[in-house]
Amino acid sequence: MFTAASLTLGLGWASTARAQSVDFIRQEVFVDLATPGMTTVDLELELVATGSVTKFSTANPAIPITSVLVNGAPGTFAPHPTYPEYLTEIRFPGTFAAGDTIAVSIQMSGVPSCGASALSCSSTPDETLFTFPSPGSAWYHVDPFKVDPFIGSVELRVPVGYVAVAGHGKLREIITESPEVERHAFDFVAPTEVFGGYAAKGTNVATMESQGGFPTKAIYPLEEAKVEEVTRAVDVASRVIPVLTEHYGPLAIEGANLVTVPKNFAFGAMSTLGVVYVNEVVFTTETYLVEQGMAHETSHFWWGNTATAELANEGPFFGESMAEYSGWRALGELDGVAKRTAGMRMNAVWYMYRRPNDADMDVLTGDQSNPAFVHVVYHKGPLVLRTLEEYVGSEAFGAVLKDSINLGLGGLSVDRLVEDVAAATGIDINPLVEEWLRAQGFPRIAVTARVGDESIELSFDQPSYTLRVPVDLVDVRGGRTQHIVDLEPGASTVSLPLPAAGLAAVEIDPLWTMVREIASERAEDVTLDGVVDGADLIEVALRHGTSLPSKRRVDGSYDPLFDVEPDRKVDDADLARVISAAP
Ligand SMILES: [Zn+2]
Repeated sequence: MFTAASLTLGLGWASTARAQSVDFIRQEVFVDLATPGMTTVDLELELVATGSVTKFSTANPAIPITSVLVNGAPGTFAPHPTYPEYLTEIRFPGTFAAGDTIAVSIQMSGVPSCGASALSCSSTPDETLFTFPSPGSAWYHVDPFKVDPFIGSVELRVPVGYVAVAGHGKLREIITESPEVERHAFDFVAPTEVFGGYAAKGTNVATMESQGGFPTKAIYPLEEAKVEEVTRAVDVASRVIPVLTEHYGPLAIEGANLVTVPKNFAFGAMSTLGVVYVNEVVFTTETYLVEQGMAHETSHFWWGNTATAELANEGPFFGESMAEYSGWRALGELDGVAKRTAGMRMNAVWYMYRRPNDADMDVLTGDQSNPAFVHVVYHKGPLVLRTLEEYVGSEAFGAVLKDSINLGLGGLSVDRLVEDVAAATGIDINPLVEEWLRAQGFPRIAVTARVGDESIELSFDQPSYTLRVPVDLVDVRGGRTQHIVDLEPGASTVSLPLPAAGLAAVEIDPLWTMVREIASERAEDVTLDGVVDGADLIEVALRHGTSLPSKRRVDGSYDPLFDVEPDRKVDDADLARVISAAP
């Protein structure tokens, strides 16, 4: 659904291949899109040898390499001996020693072939689109084995009247070459790893700019898109980015672009710094929720493009889990806590009940081939972050995350996060990391309530987790008394004073701060106050008609607590059971 660039960069190979003995310093990219039937790319690379070196690897480009020059002398290129389907080796005419500067010119020329599957680039006479440099669709050099950011520039040579974007590059100038051709020159002044390039005939696309908030511009096909969906996307992005900036610090960009990509692209939406590539499907059908999608994607400007994981297996957690968590955190702040709760519940429910064949894995395995990858990384992962937030305290945890962004590309690690939380708060989150991130599954908490004259005794039973559980006592006037109950593995009992106005309901973890199932000792006692009565009937009736959503969306409202007769939907059968259980 929402693929991060960091997932497809080939970082997964890092463990099986030795790092390259070059440090990548600068890259100047010249792309000629003004010659009909032919795309030409010239790369000027500046590398510094970090050891004795005769070659380096780059992702297979979308356009055939035609020549290589190394410090002015001819070099050669050939498929990588171990990964020919992914990588090309650029071979030097001689050997360089540590400290040597190497200037490499690579020329590519031809018709872009963007690979048959997992489309991430496209080329037609009127539009050229390169998103991220994955093998087979690369258009500039990125180190496939290690995080090695560079600075540099991009020039797009296009017919006059074209719209052009080069990732988060800052437009330096538009150079008029002739009445027919101009060059859009962009600079990348901050270290960068991944950016996309886009150029389209101006008469085929429309642009829409935000009215307030963070400057956001959508570029979308004139013919196809629904203007109200584009408007919604621009609105959400422009409102969410300022909140994210408060949470995670300012970015080195002055605006955001939403670039529409063709329907056959392999993702719903995907981001590089400052640019969200939005599948046309998003703007033409109702199948995708623009709001949660844009909040998730713009969060990737920080998580996945400003800061990334040091270890490949932690990449999905620091990219996808963080983006999903951050998007809902920001939406909750903008539109109210109920929105965040709905998002957290949706993610929990999807992890708990929608894993194919009950497949599972540890979040930190990061194994994309596991059938439960999406459920674990996109749905459980963000809830684990919410759980950590609750355990550490929102403000303190938020401050640690904000500082983490400064660790930059390749700087994030779970061990470091544990250390930083301990240093900032004295709280050891290691036990939570072990149970939530390095183990599978989720807790099922059995709750028994006994109401006395002045207090309610709540007994909890769950076999293996250390949990901090918010418990609200709701009185008959709707007032709330909030408690925190710390649970160790096994059975435990707490006694809480009854509200003076009279107890109406006990709500366990009402904001969905974790992936969990709450099971009332008597399933019909959904208010967890020890009796089955009209209040339970009302609560179930209020959820009547809610079911586990068939799509990954938040409007299903399914909550298993109210599914008294468990069948993944709250319906007449659940009401009937409450009625028959009431005295
Ligand atoms: Zn994502």
